[in-house]
Amino acid sequence: MTRPIPPGSTIGILGGGQLGRMLALAAAQLGYRTHVFVPDADSPTSQVAAAATVARYDDLDALTRFAAAVDVVTYEFENVPAATAEHLAALKPLHPSPRVLAIAQDRLAEKRFLNGIGVPTAPFRPVSTPAELDAALVELGRPAVLKTVRLGYDGKGQAMIRADSDPAAAFAVLRGAEGILEGFVDFRMEASVVVARAESGETAPFVPVENRHVHHILDTTIAPADIPPALAEEAVETARRIARALDLVGLIGVEMFVTRDDRILVNELAPRPHNSGHWTMDACRTSQFEQHVRAVCGLPLGSPERHSDAVMKNLIGDEVDGWLEALADPTAKLHLYGKAEARPGRKMGHVNRLYPRKG
Ligand code: AMP
Repeated sequence: MTRPIPPGSTIGILGGGQLGRMLALAAAQLGYRTHVFVPDADSPTSQVAAAATVARYDDLDALTRFAAAVDVVTYEFENVPAATAEHLAALKPLHPSPRVLAIAQDRLAEKRFLNGIGVPTAPFRPVSTPAELDAALVELGRPAVLKTVRLGYDGKGQAMIRADSDPAAAFAVLRGAEGILEGFVDFRMEASVVVARAESGETAPFVPVENRHVHHILDTTIAPADIPPALAEEAVETARRIARALDLVGLIGVEMFVTRDDRILVNELAPRPHNSGHWTMDACRTSQFEQHVRAVCGLPLGSPERHSDAVMKNLIGDEVDGWLEALADPTAKLHLYGKAEARPGRKMGHVNRLYPRKG
């Protein structure tokens, strides 16, 4: 076990969104400085970080200077280019590791990894040509969901193929990129578990939560998820198993489907703080952001215990106009991300509402 990176050190963060911002705030609370590496000026993270490097992710000279200025590197989005991650990992500790990134940014690698460690997913087939799509549709049946293997999020680069859909039209969403066809999961709930793992092997899972999406974007998280205790335990054990098999140092959000016959299928992995973990900021002894800082700096993990139940509502696009009402509501805790323009579909902030803990 290497020695902890002590308070006063500088944490480098790749990516400048709201996750980096909340990570930087949690780091500051523990006495760390943060240095963000981000392609755009005035990002939500750079507004609160001690230093910022504004450069492209493939600018190796800028990455080298950034590495020299920090003690440890982490990231707030999983589409960090592999070459960027490898370059940084050769210069400074990078958590989670480039291997974890490589798995999480490729839906095929992710599902093969999961199935390989005995974690069930939706059935899937790789699809690179219209003929492969036709064959995969025969094997998996309809409805099915076609996705790009890489770089998809919030439903982008995805098409549902129903009984009457034209596969050729669906194939066009791939825009020439490699695809994956997934059997449609008739889920009764979407859920997730955010789990931290330290270099020592210690794990700290937050309770499973329910996630409700609107237009493919997370809208509301309900903590805890209303599922039977045995299923909640299975969800937590699944997340732990994944974190161990990845040799994870840091945090991972494990997105799951709970099927109508009470099976848990894993949909996606996000090796970073996760939107479905924002409720922990106000309802747990340790927030997901503090936990991530603790894990990547080699500190003891904090208690993930929740002192309250919670509902997290994302403020998407012009929903942020309700900020004054949220502030006037004594049950609500408002978090805003400092984004100037409230474009449709853009995550502008969130509100946590706390309730007395049941169970
Ligand atoms: P993803 O980008 O994989 O997180 O998918 C976005 C959303 O699409 C998920 O949160 C689900 O609501 C839905 N979805 C994705 N894959 C499937 C599937 N195989 N079956 C049913 N719904 C899915």
